[in-house]
Amino acid sequence: MAAEGRFTGVPAGPPKIRRRTETKVKDAVNLNRETMNRTVEIDEGLCLGCGICADICPRRILYVDEKANVARVTDGSKCDRLRGCERACPVGAIKIN
Ligand code: SF4
Repeated sequence: MAAEGRFTGVPAGPPKIRRRTETKVKDAVNLNRETMNRTVEIDEGLCLGCGICADICPRRILYVDEKANVARVTDGSKCDRLRGCERACPVGAIKIN
């Protein structure tokens, strides 16, 4: 009778699931810390104000300040870090750190 109780078909899963979840949370926290420490920098001395970066930014965090004729960043923490703007800028005015 005791042996039948061992094979109920219920997996001993909860501890494993908990460990996986904790790992994912730790990874997310570490990734977030990494992202928070990075910045999007625009060299205003180089920027032409062409707007290419603003046009291709998928997060819409870049725009051209028309008065100063340079690109600006609204919120660098929302950057996807794929460096599309950095590669597209014709004068190398953007740096993702
Ligand atoms: S692509 Fe480069 S030069 Fe053009 S607005 Fe953006 S930072 Fe300035």
